Amino acid sequence: MGEPAAPMMPRPSVPEADRLLGVKHPVLSHGYVVLVDYMGNDAAIVQAARVSYGAGTRSVRDDRGLIRYLLRHRHTTPFEMVEFKFLIRLPIYVARQIIRHRTASVNEHSARYSVMPDEFDLPPVEDVRRQSARNRQGRGEALPVEASEAFRTDLDRISREAYAAYERALESGVARETARLVLPLAYYTEWYWKVDLHNLLHFLSLRLDPHAQEETRRYAAEIARLVRVVCPVAYEAFEEFTLQGLTLARREQVALQALLAGRTPEAACAEAGLPLTREDGRPMQSGEGVEFLEKLERLRSGSGSGPTV
Ligand SMILES: Cc1cc2nc3c(=O)[nH]c(=O)nc-3n(C[C@H](O)[C@H](O)[C@H](O)COP(=O)(O)OP(=O)(O)OC[C@H]3O[C@@H](n4cnc5c(N)ncnc54)[C@H](O)[C@@H]3O)c2cc1C
Repeated sequence: MGEPAAPMMPRPSVPEADRLLGVKHPVLSHGYVVLVDYMGNDAAIVQAARVSYGAGTRSVRDDRGLIRYLLRHRHTTPFEMVEFKFLIRLPIYVARQIIRHRTASVNEHSARYSVMPDEFDLPPVEDVRRQSARNRQGRGEALPVEASEAFRTDLDRISREAYAAYERALESGVARETARLVLPLAYYTEWYWKVDLHNLLHFLSLRLDPHAQEETRRYAAEIARLVRVVCPVAYEAFEEFTLQGLTLARREQVALQALLAGRTPEAACAEAGLPLTREDGRPMQSGEGVEFLEKLERLRSGSGSGPTV
């Protein structure tokens, strides 16, 4: 037995997280998130960082301070030392968004190899809302209940008909890889999803954001709750500096200076070149000026600038 190459520490484990391993956390009508395994915790981040900063840093910064420093200054690789593996059951329309996060390793249920289960997502009536007037990608006001219910009835009927066609195709000998073409986006798939903490926090910053689709946000929120158990200090720093942090672009800083000098928000935006009205004089619904006013509102209301889970 030779000397250990680096200072050894016991294999990190978090008893609260160990108790959650294998537990199904329901999301949407038939989905769930399961923490299958994890490697590392807050201590693993600190251990990696102290290799680069060298001995003696302990006296300068405690572990919590070090993790917060690393996150604030985007010293990201120590966060890559922590890994998470999840089993996730999710509708295909949510999977299509989550698969875009290329830094995760994914192993998905094969609908070429196995028969797809008869499970589709049927959003509750309160989730079937009007197209947002401001956000072209999002939902807005409630619809009359009859309109929401009519959509749900159509979705339910079409999904059942599609599954019946899928079964007929399988029975008549059509290959599974071809028969699946009749199944709509609301059907569920399942995958293992493994990702390191750095890229997972990037995923959460995008998919917990109010601009992300609500259903995808619910998966992100469930994942975030599990991440917080494994790495409470890193997650707290992420909430503080990333989720709840506020960035100000150059023109926004000019507008803020004008505000501090006593100008109205509208005058400050005009001075900074942040547009609030169109050429025809109508107020803008979106854009840099509107987003700056939203930041001001968040500051005024004290609601923070990002979601918490
Ligand atoms: C609210 C919202 C709306 C969206 N709307 C659309 C849409 O309408 N249409 C659409 O197609 N997509 C859309 N997306 C997906 C989006 O464009 C990104 O593909 C997705 O969020 C993944 O982000 P990412 O590339 O940063 O993450 P990851 O793929 O996890 O990558 C993490 C980071 O790794 C680096 N990286 C990874 N791969 C490469 C590479 N090949 N080259 C260079 N750097 C790389 C980048 O720094 C990247 O930020 C939307 C996403 C959100 C959150």
